[in-house]
Amino acid sequence: DNNFTLELADEAATLAFGAALSKAIVPNLTIYLHGDLGAGKTTLVRGLLHGLGFTGKVKSPTYTLVEPYESIEAAQGLLNLYHFDLYRFNDEEEWESAGFRDYFNAASVCLIEWPEKAEHILPTPDIDIYFEIKPDGRNVRLVGHSLPAEVCVKNIKE
Ligand code: ADP
Ligand code: MG
Repeated sequence: DNNFTLELADEAATLAFGAALSKAIVPNLTIYLHGDLGAGKTTLVRGLLHGLGFTGKVKSPTYTLVEPYESIEAAQGLLNLYHFDLYRFNDEEEWESAGFRDYFNAASVCLIEWPEKAEHILPTPDIDIYFEIKPDGRNVRLVGHSLPAEVCVKNIKE
């Protein structure tokens, strides 16, 4: 099975889901994060990075477009994680000149907020994660599209 839905009652639940994801991920993964402003996308990345053992501050890359976290010593081995927020992205040439394409490689995990803003140039996702704001918390749906994604989903469910 390649998908599931979860109810996240509060911020702690979103961080815990990120931590669960950190145990399940494998390198060479592109993850799209969908959902309105304030839905919890950055919170999930924060939980994931903390789960990988990163102890620094995780800030939203709204103005810089990407925040790199390189040479993280995860249980899976050395990882490069790139956190994109493309909300303000509007210059397709910047994608090439900034070297963003190189961030998608066999040793990296790329998490992308607002992938809709660059859908013609982004690599296709291995995993889509959809956040929905509810009166009481968030619903999150994860859909896997590739073999590595299936491995990841299986790891989370175990
Ligand atoms: P986004 O990156 O999607 O714009 P953020 O993660 O920056 O959203 O902000 C989400 C906001 O919602 C934060 O204030 C966070 O504390 C809160 N939040 C995160 N997860 C939940 C949840 N499951 N239920 C309620 N509030 C949440
Ligand atoms: Mg965000």
